[in-house]
Amino acid sequence: EKELLKVNHLKQYFPIKGGFLGRAVNHVKAVDDVSFDIYEGETLSVVGESGCGKSTTGRAILRLDEPTDGTIEFDGEDLLSLNKSQLRKRRKDLQVIFQDPYASLNPRQTVGKILEEAMAIQNAVPKDKRRERAIELLETVGLNAEQIDRYPHEFSGGQRQRIGIARALSVDPKLIICDEAVSALDVSVQAQVLNLLKKLQREFNLTFLFIAHDLGVVRHISDRIIVMYLGKVVEIADKKTLFENPQHPYTKALLSAIPTPDPEAKKERIVLQGDVPSPISPPTGCRFHTRCPFATELCKTEVPELRNVDHMKEGHRAACHHIEKIVSGDMQPNY
Ligand code: SF4
Ligand code: MG
Repeated sequence: EKELLKVNHLKQYFPIKGGFLGRAVNHVKAVDDVSFDIYEGETLSVVGESGCGKSTTGRAILRLDEPTDGTIEFDGEDLLSLNKSQLRKRRKDLQVIFQDPYASLNPRQTVGKILEEAMAIQNAVPKDKRRERAIELLETVGLNAEQIDRYPHEFSGGQRQRIGIARALSVDPKLIICDEAVSALDVSVQAQVLNLLKKLQREFNLTFLFIAHDLGVVRHISDRIIVMYLGKVVEIADKKTLFENPQHPYTKALLSAIPTPDPEAKKERIVLQGDVPSPISPPTGCRFHTRCPFATELCKTEVPELRNVDHMKEGHRAACHHIEKIVSGDMQPNY
């Protein structure tokens, strides 16, 4: 398998202005030393509660924000070293679909114009072929040719998301970052759009970085899953392993909060205390220690490393000092 994207030690700190002369007095450590790879043709999901840094990670890859530190390699190229015009060319390979396509679709342009403009910016299709291609794209995403001269407001939410997908596809990208791409849609429409994304992935050998807070959605679409908490990766595994054999107490808590279709299935329930702390001064050591029912003194001082231990499948890693003891039952939750 070929790595299409390699994120290494990514940090994204945002200064908080205040104090004397509006100097930066503090930082939000939105993403703090995050590393992962995405393989060509896969869907890697990043999940976590709001504020965990998942969208910030996506934005850094797109260079919508300049990362504070770390490297991002895309298809063998160091993305962070590219200047504006090189980056613009690279955008062709790296597209994004946001939660609210309506906000990014010009209300005064017809769908045809929107798609043609996307192709024009990237010089992806010769001018005289663009309309034809736009029609093709509409059909590819399950809309029809007659809709090409309509305006965004004439479409439903699900249809608008299809237009957003068509626009991303119009430049023939390799990687598409889907940031809460189906979160605003009704559940039935969500399933349709997810199925469409899967179909398109097979058809065009697309790679997805799928950012979402909803584990049900993530379960539907992912090959592998990263769980983030307060700017850190706490666990990474293939989908089956993550859902069936989660290791990190935070992942277990997230999973025990979603209803199981099988009422007989016994789930280890982990109940979280309190809310996610502020990323401005995140807890020391393991950032999860203020809410973790297994936390010890060590957890308050030492940052746990993301690691694979003997009983875990290859490629499965979790950041917890006490995984072994929690799994063996030598440690019980202290509620
Ligand atoms: Fe909980 Fe400690 Fe493991 Fe963090 S390192 S998840 S606080 S047991
Ligand atoms: Mg977000």
